[in-house]
Amino acid sequence: MAGRRPAPHPSLGGAATTSSVLTFCGFFDQHREQVVAGVGAEILLRLRRRGVYQELAATSANGDATRSLAEKTVSVDHDAGLNVGWTGNHFVLLDLDTTKLVYDEIDTQAGVNVRLHSTVVDATRDQQGLVSDIVNNSRGGNERITADAFVDASGDGALLAAVGAGLLVVPDGQRQTGTLVCRLANITSDADLSARGIRAALEAHTEKTGIRFARDHGITVRLPVTEPVFLLTVDQRTDALDAEALTRDEISARRKAWEHLHAFREHLDGWQDAHLVETGPQIGIRERRHLLGHEELTHQDVLSGRKRPAESIGRCG
Ligand SMILES: Cc1cc2nc3c(=O)[nH]c(=O)nc-3n(C[C@H](O)[C@H](O)[C@H](O)COP(=O)(O)OP(=O)(O)OC[C@H]3O[C@@H](n4cnc5c(N)ncnc54)[C@H](O)[C@@H]3O)c2cc1C
Repeated sequence: MAGRRPAPHPSLGGAATTSSVLTFCGFFDQHREQVVAGVGAEILLRLRRRGVYQELAATSANGDATRSLAEKTVSVDHDAGLNVGWTGNHFVLLDLDTTKLVYDEIDTQAGVNVRLHSTVVDATRDQQGLVSDIVNNSRGGNERITADAFVDASGDGALLAAVGAGLLVVPDGQRQTGTLVCRLANITSDADLSARGIRAALEAHTEKTGIRFARDHGITVRLPVTEPVFLLTVDQRTDALDAEALTRDEISARRKAWEHLHAFREHLDGWQDAHLVETGPQIGIRERRHLLGHEELTHQDVLSGRKRPAESIGRCG
């Protein structure tokens, strides 16, 4: 790892730390073979060393899950205890502040020159069409950075857009929905976190108040260390590329989060004294711009598990 890395937020970690998406998928395939090495594996190793490493695996068709704390593994009944089994994914559960610390450590020790609170706002290409420099905006103003190579890791295709690269923007309304991740506390240790319970509570709330919910299922699991319940049910459609729409929808999502809390307090065992620790901080956006690549991974490639050894640049579980 080398070079400079700008990030508009006060921490590294992308959606994990800025939108509290505190569940890594993709490191393992569904047989628990670890398919990600390199910096990703280093992050898991450092979480392990700090004793905050937990995995959660959906193991079978009936959705039962297995949870491992450090190196110890215990079985968890999906319907009684938590709600992830339906995904078929193998998760690593994260503690927010340990995650921030681990990212800081890795970048600092690798000598990466990090610019937090910084946003790439412009870029230029040279005569060969290669990106030659970027403009980085921070509270202090703009700075121009030149380099031999740039990597767009913005999740937004921000650099691609700045240099006019070929992009696909799926029309608003057809994009994957966003979710405002919530962390809640003061929920009893035997509380109902099941998919069945969540659905029934939301239905009961709708019946009583007339308020409808966009989604009645989602991951519900306790995270390591302080054990807040991580809740992924507050969905909100939004156009992340339109500041006015994003503001309106973020406000709407926060209101919905409170409505979920009221529903669970009233209708779900063990949630009577629950409180909201944090939303977001910002709404989690799953889809914005796509690069129009020379080759594209298709839906059918995923379903058929198609291998392309000559073109592969990585593996994901
Ligand atoms: C609600 C939700 C739930 C999800 N659930 C899961 C899950 O359970 N498990 C899982 O593995 N994946 C999940 N995902 C997907 C996962 O979050 C993404 O695949 C992953 O974050 C993509 O990583 P990234 O580094 O490409 O982009 P990001 O994580 O989005 O990171 C991009 C970084 O670039 C910064 N940035 C953006 N624009 C600029 C700019 N102009 N200048 C400088 N910096 C910029 C951003 O602030 C951010 O820090 C979920 C996503 C969402 C939204």
